[in-house]
Amino acid sequence: MAYLLVFLLTFVFMEFVAWFAHKYIMHGLLWKLHEDHHTKESSHSFLEQNDSFFIIFATPAIIFILIASISYAPYLLVIGLGITAYGLCYFLVHDVFIHNRLKFLNKIDNFYFRAIRRAHKIHHKKIYKEDGECFGMLIVPFKYLKAELNKDK
Ligand SMILES: [Zn+2]
Ligand SMILES: [Zn+2]
Repeated sequence: MAYLLVFLLTFVFMEFVAWFAHKYIMHGLLWKLHEDHHTKESSHSFLEQNDSFFIIFATPAIIFILIASISYAPYLLVIGLGITAYGLCYFLVHDVFIHNRLKFLNKIDNFYFRAIRRAHKIHHKKIYKEDGECFGMLIVPFKYLKAELNKDK
């Protein structure tokens, strides 16, 4: 039970980490790596410089899981798995569902996912480092949820 709680807390905490990193690091010091995700709409190459963040964000989880597998550290393993699960969800929601980089999940039509997509598209409207909104992913501003929910009525 405690493991499950730690797993869930890690997952939720990662939404905060993702928001923070997106707002203050990707739109800050490492903007150069994130910029192409905002500027290019139709690209010729499948990969973006922005994909470097997959490696950057996966590294702590890999290290945690490695340490846990050579020493007895079950909580570290659970935290590593929580980070990995969040990363996978982020990939599925952001890269597959919102940006259609792989051709599945695009038929989802549920108010929560529509609100996520809406909010992220708003984020993409800004192509400069300085201004921006909706830096989070799975936690959506209430106004978008409400707007999408009303469409279902
Ligand atoms: Zn951004
Ligand atoms: Zn995006």
